[in-house]
Amino acid sequence: MTDTVQDPVERLRVRLEEQFQQYTEQLTELTVHSRQPGRGGHDPDTLNGLLTTARDGLAGTAEALRRMSEGTYGRCDRCGGEIPMGRLEILPHARYCVTCQRA
Ligand SMILES: [Zn+2]
Repeated sequence: MTDTVQDPVERLRVRLEEQFQQYTEQLTELTVHSRQPGRGGHDPDTLNGLLTTARDGLAGTAEALRRMSEGTYGRCDRCGGEIPMGRLEILPHARYCVTCQRA
């Protein structure tokens, strides 16, 4: 087998690192646009919304990577319960289990 990444958490780490990279690039691009009003193709409100999304995404991703290195990754921040792997596959930087997310 050529698949060297068998551990699901290790696989998610790779995805989080890619995601981190993407958000960083997005943020850089948006910051450049915000300094050139009217040239980025976004109105200020849209641009601010996109900046917030990218910043939150970046913060959430960094946070998840930190939890991974601390060994607390996959635990709900609110109830301490385990976040199902299926949920983490969809949202690798999820902080809460489904129940707490809804609450
Ligand atoms: Zn929970």
